[in-house]
Amino acid sequence: MKGKLTLSVEGELMQKAKDAQINISALTEDAIRRKLGEKIVQANETITCYFCYAPGEKETAEDVRESERKAKESNIPHTFIPTEYAEKTKLTWLCPEEKWICNKCLLVKIKSVSIAQS
Ligand SMILES: [Zn+2]
Repeated sequence: MKGKLTLSVEGELMQKAKDAQINISALTEDAIRRKLGEKIVQANETITCYFCYAPGEKETAEDVRESERKAKESNIPHTFIPTEYAEKTKLTWLCPEEKWICNKCLLVKIKSVSIAQS
């Protein structure tokens, strides 16, 4: 769902943007996503895991909620890693590495970190 936002932009610059028919709403969304570290994926763009080269789709917030739900239902609290229940072909944008990683490789990374810390 889209929300309304009031922006203050320098007058001359705003006129230039209008003249150039720049979609300020889309540009603002892109800028916010970049700031939050989200990678912008073009429709039909194929993305591949940086680590194992497996092609896949970007993992959505809904996918993450679904894996969290499955993890909770598993009744194994000591292995609560939602990624364990995520679709292995879905990819996440890694920050600050700025690389795509599939859930299979992400799980290996998470497990190696938790072993190192224990
Ligand atoms: Zn991978």
